[in-house]
Amino acid sequence: MLSTGTLYTVSAPSGAGKTSLVKAVVDAVDNLLVSVSHTTRAQRPGEVDGINYHFVDRTQFEQMVENGDFLEHAQVFTNAYGTSKNWVLETLGAGKDVILEIDWQGAHQVRQLIPSAVSLFILPPSRETLRQRLTGRGQDNDSVIDARMAEAESEMSHYGEADYLIVNDNFNVALNEFRAIIIANRLTLEKQRLRHQSLLNNLLS
Ligand code: 5GP
Repeated sequence: MLSTGTLYTVSAPSGAGKTSLVKAVVDAVDNLLVSVSHTTRAQRPGEVDGINYHFVDRTQFEQMVENGDFLEHAQVFTNAYGTSKNWVLETLGAGKDVILEIDWQGAHQVRQLIPSAVSLFILPPSRETLRQRLTGRGQDNDSVIDARMAEAESEMSHYGEADYLIVNDNFNVALNEFRAIIIANRLTLEKQRLRHQSLLNNLLS
């Protein structure tokens, strides 16, 4: 039997640096891909349809739910998000590792469906740093930032459900930690036995 890839879920509050870390780890590690989710949320400046997300309207999203196209889907605050089932299963089947950047509800659903999935949670190094990161370019008033902090706290309250926890203080340290988790998971006896079947047979014949 060929080795199939490992599925990772990565959750974090907005402002923890999750997207930058995921991008860097995908660039640094071979055979590791990130899934592009579908969402009903409006495209932000700089985002590209098909790269950051597949942007769809509510009707299209509901149709996909009805068709069973999603591995998991959830309402996150005011928008709906979902992970493409076919793409994930095909990519894992091709032996590649896959990262899902999804909220705690999605990670919970994935854990139930695929018990071998590995979950990571990324936290900011302090409340002050989080608030600064959520303040952005200083164009928002305090009540907008307070609302973002409340959403971030709500997501962070689920950190205890993950297998691994990364505190993103220094970006390069966090990136190395993330890489270490992926590499270590590739070296488990179960994975190595599948990958090196003929070597093992040869060494022990
Ligand atoms: P944003 O709109 O800021 O890109 O993402 C908001 C939240 O939705 C983040 O916590 C992000 O991880 C989550 N999210 C993005 N894609 C998915 C998905 O496919 N499924 C789920 N459950 N959450 C997602």
